[in-house]
Amino acid sequence: MSKVIFSSWAGKTVDNRGLGVEQHAYARDLGLPSGYDHTKVAAFMGWDGFVVWDEKINVVDMAHAYIKEVQKISCGECMVGYIGIGVIADTLAKILGGKGGEEDIDLLQWLANGVKENARCTFGQTAPIPIIDSIKYYRDEYLKLIKKNRKTVPKSSYKVMVTAPCMEACPAHLDIPGYIELIRNHRYGESLSLIRDGVCLPGVIGRVCTAPCEEACRRAQYDGHVCIRLLKRCVADWEMNSGLTPSFAKPRKSKEKIAIIGAGPAGLACSYNLALKGYRVTIFEELPIAGGMAAVGIPQYRLPTKILDRDIELIEKTGVEIRLNTKIGKDLEMGDLWKGGYKAIFIAIGAHKGRKMGAEGEDKDYEGFVDGMKFLQDVNLGRVIEPKNRILIVGGGDVAVDCARSCLRLGFRDVNIVYRRSRVEMPARKAEIEEAEKEGVKISYLAAPTKILAKDGKVIGAECIKMALGEPDSSGRRRPIPIKGSEFVMEADMIIPAIGQQPDLSFLPVRDQIKLAKQLTIETDITTCQTSGEGIFAGGDCVTGPAVLIDALASGNKAAQSIDQYIRKGKVTQGEDTKLESAVKGINISAQREQEIIPREMPQITSQLPLKKRIGNFREVENGFNTEAALEEAKRCLRCYRVMVWATAE
Ligand SMILES: Cc1cc2nc3c(=O)[nH]c(=O)nc-3n(C[C@H](O)[C@H](O)[C@H](O)COP(=O)(O)OP(=O)(O)OC[C@H]3O[C@@H](n4cnc5c(N)ncnc54)[C@H](O)[C@@H]3O)c2cc1C
Repeated sequence: MSKVIFSSWAGKTVDNRGLGVEQHAYARDLGLPSGYDHTKVAAFMGWDGFVVWDEKINVVDMAHAYIKEVQKISCGECMVGYIGIGVIADTLAKILGGKGGEEDIDLLQWLANGVKENARCTFGQTAPIPIIDSIKYYRDEYLKLIKKNRKTVPKSSYKVMVTAPCMEACPAHLDIPGYIELIRNHRYGESLSLIRDGVCLPGVIGRVCTAPCEEACRRAQYDGHVCIRLLKRCVADWEMNSGLTPSFAKPRKSKEKIAIIGAGPAGLACSYNLALKGYRVTIFEELPIAGGMAAVGIPQYRLPTKILDRDIELIEKTGVEIRLNTKIGKDLEMGDLWKGGYKAIFIAIGAHKGRKMGAEGEDKDYEGFVDGMKFLQDVNLGRVIEPKNRILIVGGGDVAVDCARSCLRLGFRDVNIVYRRSRVEMPARKAEIEEAEKEGVKISYLAAPTKILAKDGKVIGAECIKMALGEPDSSGRRRPIPIKGSEFVMEADMIIPAIGQQPDLSFLPVRDQIKLAKQLTIETDITTCQTSGEGIFAGGDCVTGPAVLIDALASGNKAAQSIDQYIRKGKVTQGEDTKLESAVKGINISAQREQEIIPREMPQITSQLPLKKRIGNFREVENGFNTEAALEEAKRCLRCYRVMVWATAE
């Protein structure tokens, strides 16, 4: 990173103008974004100030480029922000056009301060900061233009990045304030269309997303985060319940065929994006239904089948073909796909192979010993499962909790989870654990099975051992250590191990030379999804190990971009957007200074299916917002948009 000439960022100023180069500071020492290709960037301007590396840059021109971008997402909710920003943009254009007077500088300053003090959202309050700073520190540049001492303004080109704390946290970088604002303006269809730009399964994600955006929401620090996930669900449900079908762009079909292995969220996202670009896409799926873990993992009381089916149906409307019951490695080989004329392959096979517990007898095929994934698959595919008396589920993640809650619904009487660490380390979501306990699931902590006990080939229980917690391991959680001599027996007529999954990569042919990572997942370039095999890309759980839907969807989106580039240019390079995103990561985009002025409003509350109505059926537990509640909730969004422009001198 080159040394800066001038920087005013987050209230801290470094002015090296007129000093020898040896006295200039490095950007990284100032806590500034330093990841972007610094040889090309001459300056940037954003919500907290601006930085100049190259003195050829005209700060007034950069301020104009910046405020025009701000103007594009200025919402009009408050006149001060909307009109103020518009007049700032016009005044800057006037000065740049050689028609400004000194009074225009005063006008700019007055307007910028007025918007900063009086705008209703934090976007409006922060947007004028770099304009104020530019006048304060580069007044000479303004005067040169006004007094016509500078006839021509050096040309620069600008890259734009729009972000927000919630957008930063979302792996799909969804325009969250944008779709919330559309809800606030009753424009549900447009809101959903904006959501679909980043998430092709809006109904699904609106129900079961882990919602990292909500943790990052600045309201979380005050009166509770905006219920971003449920707002998504509301518009997805609104479209479905209104009997509407969205229309998708119909690009001219290209000749190129792309093969995708696996119809889970990663494969579906990749297929959707490629189809919208005009590619002919076929997904090969081994199961009789599409959706991956969303179809055969997540139980219906959290994600009803009709919701997933509708999202998939709409993806198929874009022209994607899904060939079910077709396992690559059995029904077809990877080589057949190349022979079939496919020009690139995206591997999105998830992580379905259950890990071993290391307990004696787990490989003996005892009746009543069923892997967690297989159990949930059977439940979701409607296969008959005979309820048992006492069931023991081993593990502390979402799969274990989903198995337990499903067992109760199937009529199993005594449902127990045994987990080797304490509740603090349990990886399943807190809300899920609480609901499971309310429904009657019992959880034994600090214990693990050492031996499966069976009689006449049938499970009768497990010998377990008590655990103590030692130092943290590589996962950061305290390591469970068996306590010698503490063995005890837990009786059970069914045992379900649910201690984690890994991808089944046995179908990969050696000749494609696809490198694997240590955890036996597929190794890829994380910014492009490229594997070491020519024309082969991979994403989702088979790359990350078991993760979450939004990560899988984001990787499918990214892979589609890379595959498109690969087909058109024959190679893949990291996109400008990705570079900008990683450069901006790490800057604190929720500045402290605006926090006192947030009005307190309580989040909307949703209801849940009463406990007594949950047993014996898979009815959805969580209720969503109706549109009135959604409108109220949407009003709570602070619109923490942040705009940044990066200048390159020409
Ligand atoms: C029980 C459970 C509950 C979960 N709950 C949540 C939740 O609430 N929220 C959340 O965000 N995430 C949750 N997850 C995680 C989430 O479902 C996964 O991260 C996500 O589905 C991964 O998507 P994927 O496309 O990478 O893989 P998958 O969804 O696993 O899809 C892979 C697909 O590839 C197919 N396939 C595999 N091998 C082949 C082959 N050789 N040929 C053809 N097809 C093949 C599989 O049949 C499958 O359909 C849960 C997972 C489980 C197991």
